[in-house]
Amino acid sequence: MKIDHWTLTCDRRRPWKSCPVAGTPRTLAVTLHYPDGVPELPEVESVRRRIARSMVRARIDAVDLRRPDLRRPFPRHFVRRLSGETVTALDRRAKYLVATLSSGETLLMHLGMSGSFRVIREQLPRRARREASPLDPHDHVVFHMSSGRAVVFNDPRRFGIMELVAAGKLDRHPVLNRLGPEPLSKDFDGAALARACHRKNTSLKAALMDQRVVAGLGNIYVSEALHVAGLSPRRRASTIATPSGAPRDAAHRLASAIKRVLEDAIARQSRAAYGDARFLVYDREDQRCSTPGCSGTICRRVQAGRSTFYCPVCQR
Ligand SMILES: [Zn+2]
Repeated sequence: MKIDHWTLTCDRRRPWKSCPVAGTPRTLAVTLHYPDGVPELPEVESVRRRIARSMVRARIDAVDLRRPDLRRPFPRHFVRRLSGETVTALDRRAKYLVATLSSGETLLMHLGMSGSFRVIREQLPRRARREASPLDPHDHVVFHMSSGRAVVFNDPRRFGIMELVAAGKLDRHPVLNRLGPEPLSKDFDGAALARACHRKNTSLKAALMDQRVVAGLGNIYVSEALHVAGLSPRRRASTIATPSGAPRDAAHRLASAIKRVLEDAIARQSRAAYGDARFLVYDREDQRCSTPGCSGTICRRVQAGRSTFYCPVCQR
């Protein structure tokens, strides 16, 4: 197929308007709204599923870099190292998107605080192209794929990360190698959670926010999972395990609740069904608890600088 090459390569003097493959009315994925201000695991997983259709088993024909950096400078020879490579897999680890390339290198992408991807169909009729709206000034990277799609990374606050990891070095990555189990994997269950918590004197909320205990959980889904499990966020983490580290019933309940709230959130994201009813406790201070038979009212407490929402009656 014909690819429109337009490589800005960090030259800010060039007007971004001139990009001929700019954002078009036929955008296939929309920018997501992040309820807590930052994308959490379900949002990242939803992004992965959306862009995988355009990227996996497709070749990166060209990359347009529209500035020199995000949170950090782009890796050296970023465009050259990606161009011509096929994306053989697109996985997720915690909140990182992990693209495996045919060169053996891995492209790690993190949405930071405001990052998002959208997919644009590149093979447009000429008239539609003329009418196409320009790229947004916050569109920083455009991957032109052999699938006929352009995958566009937009990030107004620029806390996102794009990093290339050499073949065989992923296991030694300073962030990834410290992460605990993926909450939706088979490795994560009540026993694993109890082992990770049994010597912890911190609150259960703080333990679940610790990425070494379980990877990728953030403020919203920790509050939600604790509510579903009927456990107080202020309870000591070690109380879900016996002194030898074996799981108590609370550990099993909590592990299942974590999986359930994440799976429900991913399903909602894929249906793009946003609404006020999506959270049980998060951002519901002073509202009545929705647990059947519970007369409690949702409270907000600040723990480690972040708001925690919970019902003091049915969460013990
Ligand atoms: Zn309640």
